Amino acid sequence: MNLQHLITGMLITAATLATSCGTQQETTDFEYNDERFADLQMLRYKVEGFENLSLRQKTLVYYLSQAALSGRDILWDQNGRYNLRIRQLLESVYTNYQGDRESEDFKQFVIYLKRVWFSNGIYHHYGCDKFQPGFSEDFLRTAMKDVAAEKLPFDTEELFPVIFDPTVLPKRTNQADGEDLVVTSGGNYYGQGVTQAEAEDFYLKMKEADPDPAHPIMFGMNSRLVKENGVLKEKVWRSGGLYGEAIDRIIYWLEKAKTVAENDKQVAVIDKLIEYYRTGDLKTFDAYSILWVEDTEGDVDFTNGFTESYGDPLGMKASWEGYANFKDKAATERTEKLSANAQWFEDHSPVDPRFKKQNCKGITAKVIVAAILGGDLYPSTAIGINLPNSNWVRAEHGSKSVTIGNLTDAYNKAARGNGFQEEFVIDQATRQCINDYGDICDDLHTDLHECLGHGSGKLLPGVDADSLKAYGSAIEEARADLFGLYYIADPKLVELGLTPNADAYKSQYYTYMMNGLMTQLVRIEPGNSIEEAHMRNRALIAHWVLDHAAMAATEGSTPSVELVKREGKTYVLINDYAALRTLFGELLAEVQRVKSEGDFEGARQLIEQYGVKVDADLHQEVLARYKALNLAPYKGFINPEYVVTEDKDGNITDVQVRYGEAYDHQMLRYSQEYKTLPFINE
Ligand code: ZN
Repeated sequence: MNLQHLITGMLITAATLATSCGTQQETTDFEYNDERFADLQMLRYKVEGFENLSLRQKTLVYYLSQAALSGRDILWDQNGRYNLRIRQLLESVYTNYQGDRESEDFKQFVIYLKRVWFSNGIYHHYGCDKFQPGFSEDFLRTAMKDVAAEKLPFDTEELFPVIFDPTVLPKRTNQADGEDLVVTSGGNYYGQGVTQAEAEDFYLKMKEADPDPAHPIMFGMNSRLVKENGVLKEKVWRSGGLYGEAIDRIIYWLEKAKTVAENDKQVAVIDKLIEYYRTGDLKTFDAYSILWVEDTEGDVDFTNGFTESYGDPLGMKASWEGYANFKDKAATERTEKLSANAQWFEDHSPVDPRFKKQNCKGITAKVIVAAILGGDLYPSTAIGINLPNSNWVRAEHGSKSVTIGNLTDAYNKAARGNGFQEEFVIDQATRQCINDYGDICDDLHTDLHECLGHGSGKLLPGVDADSLKAYGSAIEEARADLFGLYYIADPKLVELGLTPNADAYKSQYYTYMMNGLMTQLVRIEPGNSIEEAHMRNRALIAHWVLDHAAMAATEGSTPSVELVKREGKTYVLINDYAALRTLFGELLAEVQRVKSEGDFEGARQLIEQYGVKVDADLHQEVLARYKALNLAPYKGFINPEYVVTEDKDGNITDVQVRYGEAYDHQMLRYSQEYKTLPFINE
């Protein structure tokens, strides 16, 4: 599970306590902001501390970074069956076009191409709607004449309606209640003609036939479900199977990584991952996950594989992602304090004791430095990750939780002085609080969310982990966020030295409510409702609390939180922070009950009532105020490059990190160096 970057996080500018990030070194020569297009801002991140690693560790990071980039084509194909062909078409035109590169059509074409690059396909990475090109079909047809025929070895005609016709495959992942989510989603996880009912039935039967239901594999996680001659079957993603060419390339780099691993445990982890990639066997994947969770000694670590299921409307099939990282030792002390006290937090949480874990074990948490981002983590990325996702592996072996310090730091530095706070925060005193404590509380909320929130609680015996179906992801994120919100105000954190005083948490309460009620709406097109799981979770929490604060207010008294108008503008006003904490606690108890009991109807009602709908007037107001600031609502990162020096025998003698590659150059280079799959994967 991952924690995406909250939009509020971008506005926080405090440097007072930034030492907790481990990247306190102010740098004036590093430019965090790069180019901007459409609703996107490209950023760069620094790989702080890379130069302090040993040569062996640097080499390991290099090999793992190659493995993380080698699965790129897999994600493109998962995001839509025409994506690899469309990418080739667009890139060929981009590099070969002989016409006027200053014309409006060509400029619009470039924006479209960059959006497709950013999204790893033709759908918005967050909203999931298909992009509408700002150039004409005629322009593309004419421009294609400049491209040599052998560059486009497939039927280009069938790509035109996919690019231009808004009614053809309009959405990547559809979450609309009541529709056939499989048939109406344009992602490539299910073959043509497969319905939602058929897919659900297929996996239900598989689960019922499971010989070891206490340790269920993640059914369907690594395959496309297709219908052949009327019969449903899985095409498994493995060496020799679907995506086999890309997987073989990943294995090649993993084999090299093994030769410079930090210890025997790490060798065993990589070996097991290779075995899984070769067989596609999900029992082997669980065995790998257990080894990976238990490998905590080394500094260098990685994720590489089919991991998160947000892109599948049924929440089973996992998109491919990869990244490499190493530990930020100073900042990790912070998360170690939390994990050392995991049982205390579990015991004191406001949820029903029946849903609590008696034995919180194996929750490891660390702050890391990302060295490369790949697959579904690139260029839009998570700032916190908690894995593995298998419920029973988490319950019996624990999970590994990370906060990615150098990315949070890059967001914060890039957002300095952008005017966001002045526009949306109600008054100077609140802004001051956010200035003083925003950074540290944001990081801490991420830590609490990842190392304690996701790891807390348990399902009642016999409850199917998938029983919340399409609502499962949003409920799980809400659970983790609420755990963090409830505890960030706890005196225990002051006692542990994690928050500087008993008021610091207020910065997080304010920005969270402001984001959930108002500012996250800048990511939604006018007229649309909220679909993405993390956004639904934030809206659910903020609106539920607003609603219950109003209900709790007796006549004549003010509610603990409300929306107020000042000079025609709407603001969040928090009158009673302590009462807000009580409400977060009440909702945490309810959300945990829904999860533990597998109460689908309860989940549906919570999310449909509070997490989906958008107030049209407020939405319009927020969009207008945001637009006036001229900021991009989404951000993503350009990767650094690793430059290897070898001696005459081919041994690596040095690895250096280099910044400054232009985004289009990086994309065209990746399409050459990491082109692994055929244009059609059928
Ligand atoms: Zn999460």
